[in-house]
Amino acid sequence: MERKIAPTPWVDLHTHTLTQRQEDEIRLLSLSLTAGMTFPEEQGTYYSLGLHPWYIAELGEEALGRLEDHLDREPRIIALGEAGLDRRCDTDFSLQLHLFEEQIKISERRSLPLIIHLVGAQDELLRLHKKYAPKSPWIIHGFRGKASTARQLLDKGIYLSFGEHYQSESLVLAHSMDRAFLETDDQASLSIRTVYEQASRTLEIEVEDLAKSIWERVERVFRGHIGW
Ligand SMILES: [Zn+2]
Repeated sequence: MERKIAPTPWVDLHTHTLTQRQEDEIRLLSLSLTAGMTFPEEQGTYYSLGLHPWYIAELGEEALGRLEDHLDREPRIIALGEAGLDRRCDTDFSLQLHLFEEQIKISERRSLPLIIHLVGAQDELLRLHKKYAPKSPWIIHGFRGKASTARQLLDKGIYLSFGEHYQSESLVLAHSMDRAFLETDDQASLSIRTVYEQASRTLEIEVEDLAKSIWERVERVFRGHIGW
């Protein structure tokens, strides 16, 4: 049967937008734990679920149990997060650290990739990476740092995901090391196709070739959990 859609999907590694997706897109919808969550079964839509550092103050320790309940029940959750560390938000940093470490342990125990929100805490992140030596892939989303910062993370095997705004050299470096992803994050009016086109111009490659590279990474990192 003839397929009208592109041979390679556009993958939005991190979005919070529930609007209609295009049929040649795959998206990883990132949800923060709330009461009464549902995970609608929709073609091309997968989920990541985590305790975001902005919202953990009101959630408390028992949220970890609820998070694991969802992971037990819902096969469409294929990544943990976003979780992470944010030095510029009001949440007590020691609480952030505690819940982030617990989520690192869950991602290891369940072999789920970890989508990371990281603001102003790169040293802590590298310390934790050394401490846990994770086997599950770590992906820092919305990466806007400079190339020297990117290099420190990439050298540890950490993946970086880029949205509309980024430093060109960092994207070039991450792509050359086979560890770049693309995302729309919270920008509802931004299409992932546009992000791919912009990135392909930065990288000076054809957008279809970029799509193929990223799709290979997706298959590697998510080990067959994302179907096309
Ligand atoms: Zn996000």
